[in-house]
Amino acid sequence: MDAAERREQLKQVYLEASACTRCALAETRTSVVFGAGNADADLMFVGEAPGANEDKQGLPFVGQAGRLLDKLLAEIGLERRDVFIANVLKCRPPGNRDPRPQEIEACRDYLHAQVDLIEPRVICTLGNFSTKLLRGDPTGISRLHGQPEVHVLGHRAVRLYPIYHPAAALYTPSMLETLRADFARLPELLAQDPPPQPEALEAVPELEPELKPEVSAEEPAASVDQMGLFE
Ligand code: URA
Repeated sequence: MDAAERREQLKQVYLEASACTRCALAETRTSVVFGAGNADADLMFVGEAPGANEDKQGLPFVGQAGRLLDKLLAEIGLERRDVFIANVLKCRPPGNRDPRPQEIEACRDYLHAQVDLIEPRVICTLGNFSTKLLRGDPTGISRLHGQPEVHVLGHRAVRLYPIYHPAAALYTPSMLETLRADFARLPELLAQDPPPQPEALEAVPELEPELKPEVSAEEPAASVDQMGLFE
């Protein structure tokens, strides 16, 4: 799939998500924060859920944690337009409470569709929620951060790279240094050859991961007002 086709298909998923009523967060959100960045990115970040600023602006990571994310990206020579940034939940949980299991379940098809269409080489999971969801395992971020692993998500093998959530590092200098050190390995991970794809993985039993269900595209909703998101 070429970049234009990816972007077009991602728009269709965005249109569907923007009218989503799969969980009760639809009643309290101001906007659906679908995600933003380059639909053809090699690197994708997955955070937890929109906060108040994101809910207001309809964009991911625009508050303090987002500014730290921008700074860390700049330190490795990248900008937002080079990557795609999404969250486990597309709508803000009231009061910034933790995502609930039924909300994560209701929203997961959108994230899987994003991963399927963007086909990133590396997915950086930010913090516990995205790490647990995409690894399909309850192991926490403090045991996993900084250790890349190959997983099959949808139809492709991808390098998952769990790191601390930038919000966790805002007020804890030691965590910020760990996050910075983990970030510093990203260029090297991106430069690696793509991981062996599922046909090849079948011959390597110790790497055989869970296959996630395919996402089916449903009818798009009407509005197209956030399409600048993917430029
Ligand atoms: N924290 C997140 O996990 N996502 C955002 O979009 C903003 C803050």
